[in-house]
Amino acid sequence: MSSRTRKLAILGATGSIGRSTMDVVLRHRDRYEVVALGGHRQVERLAEQCLQVHPRYAVVADEQGASILRGRLDGLGLDTEVLVGATALEQIASLPEVDTVMAAIVGAAGLRPTLAAARAGKRILLANKESLVMAGSLLMREIGVSGARVLPIDSEHNAIFQSMPDGYAGDLDCAGISRLVLTASGGPFRNMPLEQLEGVTPEQACAHPNWVMGRKISVDSATMMNKGLEVIEAHWLFGAKPSQIEVVIHPQSVIHSMVQYVDGSVIAQLGNPDMRTPIAHALAYPERIEAGVRPLDLCEVGQLSFERPDPKRFPCLRLAYEALERGGTACAILNATNEEAVEDFLAGGLPFRRIADVIAEVLDVQEVGDASSIDELIAVDQAARALARKLIGRRRT
Ligand code: NAD
Ligand code: MG
Repeated sequence: MSSRTRKLAILGATGSIGRSTMDVVLRHRDRYEVVALGGHRQVERLAEQCLQVHPRYAVVADEQGASILRGRLDGLGLDTEVLVGATALEQIASLPEVDTVMAAIVGAAGLRPTLAAARAGKRILLANKESLVMAGSLLMREIGVSGARVLPIDSEHNAIFQSMPDGYAGDLDCAGISRLVLTASGGPFRNMPLEQLEGVTPEQACAHPNWVMGRKISVDSATMMNKGLEVIEAHWLFGAKPSQIEVVIHPQSVIHSMVQYVDGSVIAQLGNPDMRTPIAHALAYPERIEAGVRPLDLCEVGQLSFERPDPKRFPCLRLAYEALERGGTACAILNATNEEAVEDFLAGGLPFRRIADVIAEVLDVQEVGDASSIDELIAVDQAARALARKLIGRRRT
C-alpha cells in the first residue's frame, strides 16, 4: 500500500450503497484499505465482504449475529475483530487509523455514527441523508469545528458539488449562483391515474424505473419524499434557501442535477444512473478513478424531458418544503414520521396514500421547538415516532 492509501470505514456496508462502494474499492485495491465494516443484520453478506477486504473490525447488531459471524470468520481463517451494537458503529467511525467514513446506514440510525465521524474530523462520504435532515444544524456545526469534510454521495448533491465553482464557500450569492435545480425521476407512479395509487403494493413502490436501491429510499422515491429530504439536504450542504432550490421531474435520470448562475448559464452533471459514479467521485476527489460505469451514449438515450411535479400526486414534497421553512425540529419530526409510515407501508399495513396524511398530521400536532443537542433531537424523533404509530393504527384501513 502506498502512503496515499485511504483508510476506510464503511457503515452500512451490506446495503445497496455499501455494496456499490465495495465494488469501486475492489477495483482500486492499491488506493483503499478497508479498516472497518458495519453490517447490522446481514451477517452472511458481511462475512463475504470480510473475506474480500480483511478488515480489522466488523460490526453487527447483536450478540447472536456476532457469534455467527465469529464462527464464519474463524472458518475462513480471518482475524477480524467482531464488535456489537450502535456504540461500536460510533467507535469505527472515529478510529484514529481511519481517515474516510462512508456513511451509508439507512435512516435515523445513521445519525450518531455520522456525528462521531464529524467530531473526529474525518472525510465523510455522506449517503445517509436522514442524518442531515434530522440534525443538519448540529452536524454542520460539528463539521465546522473539527475540520471534517463532507463529500455528497446522493447523486443530486454530488452533481451539484461537481457543478459548483472550486472552493465554493457556502454562499450562493457570492458564487453568482441563482438557484439549484434538483432532478427527480418521478418514481414508478409518475403516470399512474391518481385513484389507482390507493391500492399500490410495496413491490410496485420498490420497482424503481431507473435505480436499484434499498426499500426505504425506493418508497421515498415513489412518494417523492426522497426529493423533499434532498431539498433539506441541499439547504444544509450548500447554504441554499428553500426558494433557491427547485425540483424538476426528469424521467430519464441522466442529468443528475444542475446549478443555475446569474449570467444565465446552467451547469449540469450527466451520466448513466449508477451510484458508483458519485461514490468513485467522492472516494477519489479531487482525482478521478474508473468506476465500472457504462459510458453515457446520449444518442441512445435520444431524448431528455422535463416536467413540474404535480402537488396532488406528490404531497410529501410540499410537506418537506414546509418543514424546512418552519425550521427548528420540524425536519426531525418529518423524517421520523416518514420512517415509521414507510416501514408500516412496507409491512403491508398503511395504504400508500396515507403516508403523507400521517406525516401532515404529526407535523400539525407535535410542537416544533429548538433542539441544540443530539439527545434532545433523539427525544423529538422518538416522540414523533410514538405519535405516528398511534395515527398509523387508526389509518391502516
Ligand atoms: P439499504 O437498505 O440497501 O442498506 C442500508 C444499510 O444500513 C445496510 O447495510 C443495513 O445493514 C444498515 N442498517 C440498517 N439499519 C441499521 C441500524 N439500525 N444500524 C446500523 N446499520 C443499519 O439502503 P441504501 O439504499 O444503501 O441507502 C443507504 C443510505 O443511502 C440511505 O440514507 C439512502 O437514503 C441513501 N442513498 C441511497 C441511494 C441508493 O441508490 N441506494 C442513493 C442516494 C442516497
Ligand atoms: Mg438522490
